[in-house]
Amino acid sequence: MLYCQILRKKSIVTTISANLQTVRARIAAAATACGRAPGSVALLAVSKTWPASRVREALAAGQRAFGENYVQEGVHKIREVAFPGLQWHFIGPLQSNKTRLVAENFAWVHSIDRWKTAERLSGQRPESAPPLQVCLQVNVDGEATKSGAAPEDVPALAHAVAKLPRIALRGLMAIPAPAPAADFTVRREPFGRLRRLFEQLRDEGLALDTLSMGMSGDIEAAIAEGATLVRVGTAIFGERAGRES
Ligand SMILES: *Cc1c(COP(=O)(O)O)cnc(C)c1O
Repeated sequence: MLYCQILRKKSIVTTISANLQTVRARIAAAATACGRAPGSVALLAVSKTWPASRVREALAAGQRAFGENYVQEGVHKIREVAFPGLQWHFIGPLQSNKTRLVAENFAWVHSIDRWKTAERLSGQRPESAPPLQVCLQVNVDGEATKSGAAPEDVPALAHAVAKLPRIALRGLMAIPAPAPAADFTVRREPFGRLRRLFEQLRDEGLALDTLSMGMSGDIEAAIAEGATLVRVGTAIFGERAGRES
């Protein structure tokens, strides 16, 4: 029994570190294929639904940035893992009654899609902490059920959020609609739209440097369109059972 547990534990360690190597290699290959430096794309390991023990395995394999979707679960894990130098990103839908926990515990938020949330986060960010690093989430495919600001509302929101005191606006985030076609050109299309919006905002004078796009299934298409950060869960930790976002 004990032997089995040890074996199982060992195989998890090996799997997560091997998966991380595979994902890093995919990122490097995708960047190189379009003439970008491999180091220009950061990897966010999405640990939602996985216990702190899995985060520690990834940590042991050199991963430092982790993404969480659910406030309580994320805060609990941050406290449980409590390792200096870890960077926690909140990437899930954010209700306004949960903003304080996020402002107090996370370094980044990728999922701001309305003024009220940004304003609350700014007001609740502790003075002792560095400014909260944020991306605005854009509903690039105009899906009725998806979070994210409508693309046409993003410029006004971005200019307003950029002026908030305890927040540093870094860029844009999107989760495109699942692409039925495996066609690479089709997959790139929504990422291209997000990139053009990003470039427009930079042309308008906003100092943005982060395009948060690409997940396990579409890292390559996102990097081809300029992703600077990919958010990867399944390809690192495995298929999630339980709830989905
Ligand atoms: C779950 C999730 C991811 C990771 O998705 P995978 O397909 O498991 O890589 C990335 N971004 C957001 C916002 C998520 O909710």
